[in-house]
Amino acid sequence: MNLLLIRLIIFAVLFFAGLKLYRMYREWKLDREDADQASHQGGQMVRCAWCQVHLPENDALREKGEWFCSTDHRDKYLEERRRED
Ligand SMILES: [Zn+2]
Repeated sequence: MNLLLIRLIIFAVLFFAGLKLYRMYREWKLDREDADQASHQGGQMVRCAWCQVHLPENDALREKGEWFCSTDHRDKYLEERRRED
């Protein structure tokens, strides 16, 4: 009877320890996935048509099918194109 009780206690302790570890692992994994998603979110890299610098899509400006890193470069590029036309 005593042995059974000890086994039960050991089993319970192991079970809860395992559960806690599993939860910690899951939280850690979710955190990592969140971080991954954050870095990939709109994480498409695009190139400024003027200075060729790469930047995340979120920070870029889109105009006439081209990407730009700033309004300054957008204006310069569009001015240049207007001159060429
Ligand atoms: Zn630029």
